Amino acid sequence: MTDIKEIISLLHEPTEKDKELVQKACDFALRAHADQKRLSGEPYFNHVFATAKNIAELGMDATTVSAGFLHDVVEDAGVKPEDLEKEFGSEIRFLVEGVTKLGKIKYQGTSRYNESLRKFFIAVSQDIRVLIIKLCDRLHNIQTLQYVRPEKQLRIAKETLEIYAPLAYRLGIKKLQRNLEDTSFAYVYPEESEKIKKLLNVRKEEQEKLLHEFQKSLKKELAKNGIVEFRIDHRVKSLYSLYKKLQKYDWNVENIYDISALRITVKEVQDCYRVLGIIHGSWRPLPGRIKDYIATPKLNGYRSIHTTVFSGDGGIIEVQIRTEEMDKEAEFGIASHISYKEGKKSGSANQNLLWIKNLAKYNKESGDEFLADIKTDFFEERIFLFTPKGDVIDLPAGSSAVDFAYNIHSDIGNHMSGVKINNKFVALDTALQSGDLVEIETKKSAKPSHKWLEYCKTTIAKRHIRNALENRKN
Ligand code: MN
Repeated sequence: MTDIKEIISLLHEPTEKDKELVQKACDFALRAHADQKRLSGEPYFNHVFATAKNIAELGMDATTVSAGFLHDVVEDAGVKPEDLEKEFGSEIRFLVEGVTKLGKIKYQGTSRYNESLRKFFIAVSQDIRVLIIKLCDRLHNIQTLQYVRPEKQLRIAKETLEIYAPLAYRLGIKKLQRNLEDTSFAYVYPEESEKIKKLLNVRKEEQEKLLHEFQKSLKKELAKNGIVEFRIDHRVKSLYSLYKKLQKYDWNVENIYDISALRITVKEVQDCYRVLGIIHGSWRPLPGRIKDYIATPKLNGYRSIHTTVFSGDGGIIEVQIRTEEMDKEAEFGIASHISYKEGKKSGSANQNLLWIKNLAKYNKESGDEFLADIKTDFFEERIFLFTPKGDVIDLPAGSSAVDFAYNIHSDIGNHMSGVKINNKFVALDTALQSGDLVEIETKKSAKPSHKWLEYCKTTIAKRHIRNALENRKN
């Protein structure tokens, strides 16, 4: 079950060095976790093996796969980061430490701040590969959630549904998103998940028949028009995305046309438009349902043409048209951009940033706030901090508790008497670090001082302090 050959066979044109590295990481992890067991009673190693395999299945390189094997050796097996670096170099140390850091962020269940938390994840990972390893780690954890205590199950499943799956979506990694969502969905909304499963089963047979008939005529029509190199398959909507859609449509399943859809994959972009023309020439499209995500891709990079047509025998069918390259991107998203080849040429880290930069360019035109923030997080230093209630506050790097206090409320700033960082009292001018838990102490008699201005970074804090000092004079 845990055969390294399985993982090596997933690597894209691996060199001897690549194979040796992955083998070495595998052996190291096996030794480091030798005495440990998972809650299921299985050897702990099975978890890191599954994580590495998930990473390899996304087409990631030997370095990232090796970091997947090693992702828990610092946190759970007491290996020192320096020793890890001695064995595997600084890049793998960086990746493993990044994953370890991400593991410390606890979801507090305040859905108001989910968006900040997602941004925080991205900012803390610094390198998209860290986030990908973390998502692959989470996938195996959620797939083995039945062994975890029930109250913990719900927290982990919710966190997966609200933080991790949307992150996978943002990175365009459909493959991970779908698995993360459908597995946690059953824990967070057990009744709804059952209901959707039943509903899908009822519709399935009828849909399959319809699609089968349509596919036959479609193949004929394409051949007649000289399109010979293509692939047709069909996909069924995932449980959770159907659930979300049903909520929007008041649970009226008759209004949902893409429960299953036909997918046509062709060679060239112009073939996509030709296929669209051929389909519309033979089957009447539903007005308003033609979406050209090739000309205008979705913000996460998704490209495809979607159209919905009347099948002629009473049915309605969604068809998705794309090239092979788009198909790969739709499954693997950002992972397909930082895979082996490009990574080797220009350094994987740079490649990540380039991709983010491109995303940010899009967003200028369309004004997506999240992407604008990713860009800020990457290129300008921000730190993310927690209040004792688990709310996330983000501030410029180098900010102090004074900035933090005024960012929450001017009254808190104006009466601040002390600060605890990670449960320890520290001086007010201590520079905050991303991930700190910051607790402000207030006293009615406490007042801002001139000194505070020296260790303030934010305009808002400076303004309030000056106001308070002015008012005192008068
Ligand atoms: Mn793990």
